[in-house]
Amino acid sequence: MAFALHGNAVSAGIAIGRAHLVSHATLEVAHQQLREKDLGSEVDRLDAAVQTVRVELDVLRDEASQQGSLAEVSAFIDLHAMMLGDPTLVAAARDLIVERRCNAEWAMVQQMEALVAQFNEFEDAYLRERKHDVVQVVERILKALLGKPRKLGRRKPAELGDEELIVVAHDLSPADTIQFKTLKIGGFVTDLGGATSHTAIVARSLGIPAVVGMQHARPLVQDEDLLIVDGTRGVLIVNPDARILEEYRLRKSELELERSKLKRLKGARAATLDGVDISLQANIELPQDVDKVKEFGADGIGLFRTEFLFMNRDDLPGEDEQYDAYRKVVKAMAGKPVTIRTLDIGADKEARALAGRSERTSPNPALGLRAIRYCLAEPQIFLIQLRAIVRAAHYGKIRLLIPMLAHAHEIEQTLALIEQAKTQLRSTRHKFDENIEVGGMIEIPAAAIALGPFLKRLSFLSIGTNDLIQYTLAIDRTDGDVAYLYDPLHPAVLRLIAQTIQAANRADMPVSVCGEMAGDPKLTRLLIGMGLRQFSMHPAQLLEVKQQVVMADAEQLAQRVSRLLKFDESERIREQMEKL
Ligand code: PEP
Ligand code: MG
Repeated sequence: MAFALHGNAVSAGIAIGRAHLVSHATLEVAHQQLREKDLGSEVDRLDAAVQTVRVELDVLRDEASQQGSLAEVSAFIDLHAMMLGDPTLVAAARDLIVERRCNAEWAMVQQMEALVAQFNEFEDAYLRERKHDVVQVVERILKALLGKPRKLGRRKPAELGDEELIVVAHDLSPADTIQFKTLKIGGFVTDLGGATSHTAIVARSLGIPAVVGMQHARPLVQDEDLLIVDGTRGVLIVNPDARILEEYRLRKSELELERSKLKRLKGARAATLDGVDISLQANIELPQDVDKVKEFGADGIGLFRTEFLFMNRDDLPGEDEQYDAYRKVVKAMAGKPVTIRTLDIGADKEARALAGRSERTSPNPALGLRAIRYCLAEPQIFLIQLRAIVRAAHYGKIRLLIPMLAHAHEIEQTLALIEQAKTQLRSTRHKFDENIEVGGMIEIPAAAIALGPFLKRLSFLSIGTNDLIQYTLAIDRTDGDVAYLYDPLHPAVLRLIAQTIQAANRADMPVSVCGEMAGDPKLTRLLIGMGLRQFSMHPAQLLEVKQQVVMADAEQLAQRVSRLLKFDESERIREQMEKL
């Protein structure tokens, strides 16, 4: 039977395809309903996988002792072996297979999530962190299970024809979502999530339609149901009838046509009708995104979110690995500026290798040890990245951008560490850029209100509207329940953005907006009217924004926007927006 569900539209476009139900952190795991007579062999399959992991751990333990590894390494292996034998993990998953007639992978993940939830309740930070060990053990078992797939089962991908795969999940972390870059996913829907969570941001960067905050999609949708995801209107249609399907197929091809027409603007100068040049740059998460940056003709990279290099791995990227990644990007951009933002880990962005390092677990991660705060607390990790960035800057125009600054002393400490990184590189005789420009993100209201130290000590500013809105309005950007309060047009938000742009322009300091507002064509005229001349956005949004730029009159917009900024009521502001 057909039905529709509504959520927060986070990435525009239409996807039509088959549902692929996944569980958090384990994208490959689908839910399958088994026949009664297959349950015994499914339990055997799980036991065989557990045995494989047991042998793996024994081998690891032997290797560790031969290489004279630290006692902690053996202790972790022992802990993992112990978890493997714990009745609350494997035995409970065995019961689930029989009770719910589900596949072993699914049962393991259900049990893992139940245990992780219990660990999260622990007062003691050390015990709480052990949830990562549970996840690692389960991932080992899953790997063993996926190495020996069930004989019965799913249709092979070839049988799906050219239909797309649509991921349906309760929640997806940014780390999960970034993996869609290598998998071929048509779109996704999740039950949780807000409009500017990093999961949503990654969806936009992939250019795949997505709807989050659906509340009940995950329990209501069955694996391989036919789905339509309307990422523009925030709608999911399950098992549509032939008429609706046809209508959406038509709309999808119209959208594709509109997009291909926009391509004509690629080579056009991004200037307003009154001749003001606007720089349109791109946001990227991984070096491979550079291809898209070039495809849409960006003037440079305004934001490289380097934390994505740290995700989905058990170790940290070393100095040379990071240097190679940054150098690859700057070389590919052939002289155009590349703004590399230092590690913004924390809040909704997690990296396994960093999570276990600290005894400190913030009760409210968005207000905790995130971004520059984390880097200043872990200077050795920060110095590795700083050295990699200033070395790569030898090969082109790299600008170094620091996230989440609020205090003058954070600026001072960061600049001192950059100097320390340079001193270290001098002593090792590495080539690097002595004069690399250092800029700051303006994404905490305190920074926007007290800009003095930023103007004095830094070379450029970049306004992160995603966080600036979150912290000004006190709503968690990842929380779908308060997504309706996430309002880029709130007068307080607009004033903070406008003041920052105007103060920077007065001080002759380059300023850009790299938050999601920069890529929303409905806001292009407003930002130009505030005096903004540099925008940074997902490459796929660039041409739509350029279309707005070439139809704008900067002088006229400045006057209209200055009137709009005097209003305190959102309703009036929206009225003025219509008249821009
Ligand atoms: C922002 O906050 O607007 C920003 C660009 O940074 P991020 O979205 O990565 O937090
Ligand atoms: Mg931010």
